[in-house]
Amino acid sequence: MQPEPAPSAALRLGIDREALADNWRLMDRLSGSQAKAGAAVKADAYGLGARVAVSVLAQAGCKDFFVAHWGEVSDLLDLVPPASISVLHGPLNAADVAYARATGVRAVINSPHQARLWRDGGGGLCDVMVDTGMSRLGLGLEALGDEAVRALDIDVLLSHLACADEDSPHNARQLALWQQARARLPHRRASLANSAGIVLGGAYLGDLTRPGLALYGGVPREELAGQIRQVARPQAAIIQIRQLNEGDTVGYNATFTAPRAMRVGVIALGYADGYLRCWSDKGAMLAGDRVLPVLGRVSMDMSAIDLAAAPEIAEGDWVEAQYSLPQAAAASGLSQYELLTLLGRRFDR
Ligand SMILES: *Cc1c(COP(=O)(O)O)cnc(C)c1O
Repeated sequence: MQPEPAPSAALRLGIDREALADNWRLMDRLSGSQAKAGAAVKADAYGLGARVAVSVLAQAGCKDFFVAHWGEVSDLLDLVPPASISVLHGPLNAADVAYARATGVRAVINSPHQARLWRDGGGGLCDVMVDTGMSRLGLGLEALGDEAVRALDIDVLLSHLACADEDSPHNARQLALWQQARARLPHRRASLANSAGIVLGGAYLGDLTRPGLALYGGVPREELAGQIRQVARPQAAIIQIRQLNEGDTVGYNATFTAPRAMRVGVIALGYADGYLRCWSDKGAMLAGDRVLPVLGRVSMDMSAIDLAAAPEIAEGDWVEAQYSLPQAAAASGLSQYELLTLLGRRFDR
């Protein structure tokens, strides 16, 4: 049988693998000589594609990978040793414990209940999260005396900073509580810092850091400006070119009116792809270093752009969204995290 011809994708998410590896090496270097950098690869590596990210990061030397859900594990099992994968949400029930033991991935234990599930399922080496001031996942310090918790064989003792991207007194408070937890629960390695926490340096670094955002091109603190390379490059094909007359309007609700005759491109990128309506009359595509502003409302599957700066562009050509994360966050009001994780499934990754 002849294979069916493949249809073309009109959206692709360029992933700069060199930049991803460089960003990890920078985070690893900034983690100092005592600490090693791991990587948060949850949520499909912040939407970029966990398989590609984990392959690149493992090649660069990363040995610890953090996902949130158990369902995120199977995609990675043929890429890295199972014991290098840690599941942040911890076991919800006995089936999760059985899955962890069968595959060899590490469960993060977050509560006395999870500690008992883990023990009752056979136990073994695990990670433990302590809550030091985020009131999200993790054992409170009062739970460290729990007998099921005390019986755990702990590899990484984790906590997570709520305000590492700010100069907040919260950081030192969390550091002190994490150090108390370290003194009370035997463990092999200790880990506190996310991307922003790595910049805090010193005692925040522990034995293992867990950058996510900075690996993927985000700049969580000013100190890193100019050092992090852009990784994700959303690109769209021009599916139609049209000539507007002065006075013609563009898109839903006719928010843009052509002030003169204009050459306009329609791209296959819309809010269903995560290019949200906040970019209406505000975002831009790039053709090399030339800027092609978005005209009118972003639709579900399309947007219109001004081609004045790139007269050579033809139907079927590609443009790239202006998507340097710190600038895009400032322009859109979205967080750098959201800008990455909302990129949709129609992108060819
Ligand atoms: C997401 C996450 C990280 C990574 O945080 P960034 O701010 O993206 O560097 C680290 N640790 C935990 C527990 C996380 O949930």
